[in-house]
Amino acid sequence: MAKNDPTNASNVRKDRIVTNSQGNPINEPFATQRVGQHGPLLLQDFTLLDSLAHFNRERIPERNPHAHGSGAFGYFEVTDDISDVCGSAMFSEIGKRTRCMVRFSTVGGEKGSADTARDPRGFSTKFYTEEGNLDWVYNNTPVFFIRDPSKFPHFIHTQKRNPQTNLKDADMFWDFLTTPENQVAIHQVMVLFSDRGTPASYRNMNGYSGHTYKWSNKKGEWFYVQVHIKTDQGIKNLNNEEAVKLSGENPDYCGQDLFKNIQEGKFPSWTVYIQTMTEEQAKQQSFSVFDLTKIWPHKEFPLRRIGKMVLNENPQNYFAQVEQVAFSPSHTVPYQEASADPVLQSRLFAYPDAHRHRLGANYHQIPVNCPYASKVFNPAIRDGPMNVDGNLGSEPNYLSSAKSYSYIQASKPIQQHQEVWTGPAVPFHWATSPGDGDYVQARGLYKVLGRTPGQQQALAHNVAVHVAHACPEIQNRVFSMFSRVDKTLGDNIKREALSLAPRRSTNPQAKL
Ligand code: NDP
Repeated sequence: MAKNDPTNASNVRKDRIVTNSQGNPINEPFATQRVGQHGPLLLQDFTLLDSLAHFNRERIPERNPHAHGSGAFGYFEVTDDISDVCGSAMFSEIGKRTRCMVRFSTVGGEKGSADTARDPRGFSTKFYTEEGNLDWVYNNTPVFFIRDPSKFPHFIHTQKRNPQTNLKDADMFWDFLTTPENQVAIHQVMVLFSDRGTPASYRNMNGYSGHTYKWSNKKGEWFYVQVHIKTDQGIKNLNNEEAVKLSGENPDYCGQDLFKNIQEGKFPSWTVYIQTMTEEQAKQQSFSVFDLTKIWPHKEFPLRRIGKMVLNENPQNYFAQVEQVAFSPSHTVPYQEASADPVLQSRLFAYPDAHRHRLGANYHQIPVNCPYASKVFNPAIRDGPMNVDGNLGSEPNYLSSAKSYSYIQASKPIQQHQEVWTGPAVPFHWATSPGDGDYVQARGLYKVLGRTPGQQQALAHNVAVHVAHACPEIQNRVFSMFSRVDKTLGDNIKREALSLAPRRSTNPQAKL
């Protein structure tokens, strides 16, 4: 790593003379100024006030989803020529390396929650490219629970705590997911309750773009793209009981595993692939490419290798580099764009908004977020709290046409031949796919699970032990939802769930 690389947090003071926040030396860090030996404290004791006041401000708001996570630095290396699909500079030649930072996370739990909780895992990567920062803000599952962003806060709330009891609540969880218009989630629920819902480590899981993106080449041709980041360590999962046991014994199990392996020089790596689809092909699919609950079948859209990602450097400081790292799908480079997937479109707004709330308007100036391999020059993005990069000095605060302040406009290609959207502005209810469409891929996954002995049974068991905590009315909805995927699956869940817990009354007062 270059010495002047601002993502390096190891640049600590070398002289180690203890000072206050203003650099004034402190003779006695463990003594307070008092009147006489036992008299009251003095307001003039800046050393004490400085440290107490800063202590009160040590915490920043935790992320709402994805609060608990671990990260590391590394590089992406191009292994194959994809100039026919994407003109981004980071892919310009085979062997080219781009520094990157990855943060893995769980989704629903708070910052101190357990690594091994049944939950999707976030898999976010920031690439420090010469065209500016590119973020791939992915998960370890190829699909998601919703395809309309208006449902996101509702859905996430059902994974959090009951407003009255402050407890995780199986009724809230399954009530939302089994409501007919939310059963679009079934595919992701199947992934979540397979053993992939409890990965054995961050090193042993894949990352998926989930969303469709649009990539284009320098000739102006464009493609729908899905990205797959496949672990070279092999997929390894915990079973439900192993995961529960580890949650108690070592809640930071996956973070520890990642740090330890990198520390010992056992650098985890992933091979990166893409699937591509033309606009014409997209029109012929039985599903929409903008539907985040659907995958593109491998047979029709084979994976094409593009590169490899290696994590070979632990953070020097967790808060500076992992807690403050700020990803967004809207941080992107020429030739890589968001598609019209509505959930992705909403994330383009929501992520930077979350960072402005957590870190401030100048979150891009924090070293780990700084596009240091490129250069920020925009006189309109100025001032604001915690502006620490010189604020463009005496530059005018607008783009000036004066000769002495001439500026250059990038020759970034404008893709003129992409989709054309027309129509009235209407509330669109993308509730259910025609026929049984939302169950087709869930059934496909059930068959995939059948290829590995014990995996279909593990799915039934993992649902049963969870839904055993729900009330009878909601349990019945769960049994019939899974029976729509496969009758035996529904029956197996029902048998085990009912054997585990006496059916509770539907009276909400009896819930506790
Ligand atoms: P394929 O038979 O070509 O692919 C099946 C894929 O399923 C595998 O390549 C693997 O993806 C994934 N898989 C294997 N075991 C599990 C598991 N226990 N839990 C979750 N995923 C698993 O069939 P299709 O491409 O037609 O997909 C069939 C089903 O497989 C889909 O409905 C989807 O649920 C699931 N799947 C498909 C993916 C895709 O992008 N096509 C990606 C992941 C899952 P991987 O190699 O990525 O681990």
